Amino acid sequence: MFKINDNFCKLPASYLFSEVARRLAKFKEEHPDKEIIRMGIGDVTRPICPAAIEALHRAADDQACAERFHGYGPEQGYPFLTERIADIDFRARGIEISADEIFVSDGAKSDSGNIGDILSISDKIAVTDPVYPVYIDTNVMAGRAGELGADGRWSGIEYLPCTADNNFIPALPSGNPDVIYLCYPNNPTGTTLTRTQLKQWVDYALEHGSLILFDAAYEAYITETDVPHSIFEIEGARRCAIEFRSFSKTAGFTGLRCGYTVVPKDLYGVDSKGERVSLNHLWNRRQTTKFNGASYVIQRAAEALYTPEGRQQVAENVAYYMRNASLLLNGLRQQGIMAVGGVNSPYIWLKTPEGITSWQFFDKLLNECLVAGTPGVGFGPSGEGYFRLTAFNTHEATIEAVKRIHDLKM
Ligand code: PLP
Repeated sequence: MFKINDNFCKLPASYLFSEVARRLAKFKEEHPDKEIIRMGIGDVTRPICPAAIEALHRAADDQACAERFHGYGPEQGYPFLTERIADIDFRARGIEISADEIFVSDGAKSDSGNIGDILSISDKIAVTDPVYPVYIDTNVMAGRAGELGADGRWSGIEYLPCTADNNFIPALPSGNPDVIYLCYPNNPTGTTLTRTQLKQWVDYALEHGSLILFDAAYEAYITETDVPHSIFEIEGARRCAIEFRSFSKTAGFTGLRCGYTVVPKDLYGVDSKGERVSLNHLWNRRQTTKFNGASYVIQRAAEALYTPEGRQQVAENVAYYMRNASLLLNGLRQQGIMAVGGVNSPYIWLKTPEGITSWQFFDKLLNECLVAGTPGVGFGPSGEGYFRLTAFNTHEATIEAVKRIHDLKM
């Protein structure tokens, strides 16, 4: 009988979102007339901006016409998009990234999950805790995570706690990891690293020969000038980092699917014989073998986001959500609830009242306020005692949620 990859069996069922869904369904059944405001999931609510929609229509018409039809495209992405990305997301900010260091894909989830294909199974991994679950689960699947302990931690992964005790700034690793996942602005905490703080990580990685996998899916939400939009703003990062970007949360592409990954040509790892190997070359090889490129129409829509109108419309979308974030943050703080995030990110991370666990707070908020969020412990052991709210609902729903939370008995 053929064998399966045992590592998949080690993965616990995705307890977080299924348990949230179960509790919401039960509540709905018991209180069919009550309207719940959902501030749990990280999906957007605003439609795709007109510039991208018009480009989608034009690209669909291209596909209907023999002269303009596009079949298989370059696996790395069309130059009309990679050139725009290099110019506007990087060179305009003074960052030297060329189009052939950019790999367009169907999103940051796939790329941050697939990147492990080009890394050794023996690489030691470090993650901040709490964390976007994809980083851990994909390493479990690959066989790098070891065993799951009773404390919710995998034996082969170094966890770097981010809590109020360290102001949500992770300490540098002590276990000499080969690969470090950093996500800034962070999901779920909404916190950031300043340029000076991120430089410490780049310096650490260069000194220890580590690779930083930097997830910048939320960079468009940055409002503060000392927060870097890209790890490549930091000197030396071209030799130690890969960056993931996404059009999901900035332009509402969660359903269209498009993102990109930057793999600099200065980035080298070593093979088992100690020979230096280019990661740009390896990722190119991986993508050309396993991926046939993001679709032409979607890439045309992404290209339109870089026109003056597209950029203006994306900025308006982001501002809409950030208005919600600031309403939420101020509302919580006025009630004496400790909350972070919401300044450079669409996520608000709040401390649950003394003695109340993440799940108890979920029930309390649901029962007393009819507001649903996400229990922090679902993102990792250090998320216990915290709770995530998102700014992705409508403005009206957010105002109503803040009003309801005001009545919460603490
Ligand atoms: N990275 C982070 C940190 C995220 O929170 C998300 C989505 O929630 C993603 C990546 C996924 O992005 P995409 O929609 O481009 O796959």
